[in-house]
Amino acid sequence: MLSKTQFLYYLQCPKYLWLYKNKKELLKAEDDIKYKQLQGEDVEFWVYGNYESGIDCKTDGSIFDDIDKTKEVLRSKPTVLIQPSFFDGDLFCRNDLLVFDVSSCSWDLIEIKATTKVEDIHIIDLAFQKQCLSNCGLEIGRAYVYCINNKYIRKGEIDPEKLILKEDVTDRVNFIEMSTRQRIEDALSFIEATHDEPDVRIIKQCSNPYDCGFLDYCWRNVPDHSVYDLSLKEEYLKELVSQDKLNIEDVPYEYVTRESKKGYYISKTTDKVMIDEDGIRKELANLTYPLYFLDYESYSPAIPLFDGFHPYQQMVFQYSLHKMVSSGSDILHYEFLSDEWANPVPELVKKLIEDIGDIGTVIVWNESFEKSRNKEMGEMCHKFKESLDSINSRVYDLATLFKKNYFIHKDFKGGWSIKLVLPALVPELSYKSLNVQNGGQASESYRELIDQSIGKDDKEGLRSDMLKYCELDTLAMVKILDKLNDIIR
Ligand code: SF4
Repeated sequence: MLSKTQFLYYLQCPKYLWLYKNKKELLKAEDDIKYKQLQGEDVEFWVYGNYESGIDCKTDGSIFDDIDKTKEVLRSKPTVLIQPSFFDGDLFCRNDLLVFDVSSCSWDLIEIKATTKVEDIHIIDLAFQKQCLSNCGLEIGRAYVYCINNKYIRKGEIDPEKLILKEDVTDRVNFIEMSTRQRIEDALSFIEATHDEPDVRIIKQCSNPYDCGFLDYCWRNVPDHSVYDLSLKEEYLKELVSQDKLNIEDVPYEYVTRESKKGYYISKTTDKVMIDEDGIRKELANLTYPLYFLDYESYSPAIPLFDGFHPYQQMVFQYSLHKMVSSGSDILHYEFLSDEWANPVPELVKKLIEDIGDIGTVIVWNESFEKSRNKEMGEMCHKFKESLDSINSRVYDLATLFKKNYFIHKDFKGGWSIKLVLPALVPELSYKSLNVQNGGQASESYRELIDQSIGKDDKEGLRSDMLKYCELDTLAMVKILDKLNDIIR
């Protein structure tokens, strides 16, 4: 059996399909995949709600029970099927929606996606479905992708008519029908003929179009500093990988064309930390005490939770703020975390403005994020707009001097994320012991924190984990600045 999902795995990388069929126990659901699934389910909920006459074809049993139920439902001549399942002897697929069009006497195929535009992979997905359903004797008419209208702004109850974009992709699906048939044949032959684990070289397929669930397994022997860390041109990467040259030391310098990676390459191959003290001194001369270190956590759901938000808008629900009154003084800490089922922004902004004072540099990491959120929150809460604009005018991005290569350490890998910089500069401070370790997890935790079906007492641990994580983000900036000051002293 080749399912629709397995076919898409095959197209991404044949080994993905082989591992899925033969070593499924190694599959790891990344946080990102779980997040996307959740968003997808939310969108489906609003679409299905619009088809009151739809008959749900899913059972609590196996896929074969679902297939049997679909056959049974079809016998009753329905007009709308929700999640029907089909198996033609080789291919299996579960559609999102099938709607019977009386005028053409055929079924319209509808694929529901939580994206804000139609992607090529959605067309391939529908072409597979069309092939499977046609083989099962259904006449397929038009094909649609229902996705999210990112211009929609929530006002009161969700309006599915305005939220969902219905794009007719019939011509695009028909255009790839023949080639998809051939690719399905190839995938079926691959399953039949490949008994041993295929030897597939890693090039750029592992995260394109989706993060593969077997990353940990396939990358287990890739060195810590590898050819994959240098953003090499594909032709160079292929050449080196085909010769089993995976270490950075195997790469000729002239192959490293991206500017940001050259310093990393030199730092790693010479095992030296490269520091431009004058550059750091010049940057830090921009700071005015008291210093504030600010970090936001945000949640960006496909379906806006509250009025005034559009799909996938970053909604700030938490901040951590450290304050350093003067050089070497004690550090004060302030924080906010919304745990109510309500728009967190008005309360958060009010508290932030009380905490942050109106003079002194506001240090952030990657200013475009905090500044954009401040701008959006100012538009949402007019009476605080001026204060938020003023905060923006005082922002200094501590990542700047790493972006400018004033400090190059091999462990930054040519990047400047705080998750890379912190362990290299302040190894005693680590995210590893925390239960919430990254922004994605913090975001998912927020959804649980405001879930009204869970009692407050049961959420205390979660709340405390979220506070610890965000606090570490700003404490990390304090410690990194200390380190930089030590260097230039
Ligand atoms: S991790 Fe990469 S090489 Fe391994 S199966 Fe997935 S896509 Fe293929």
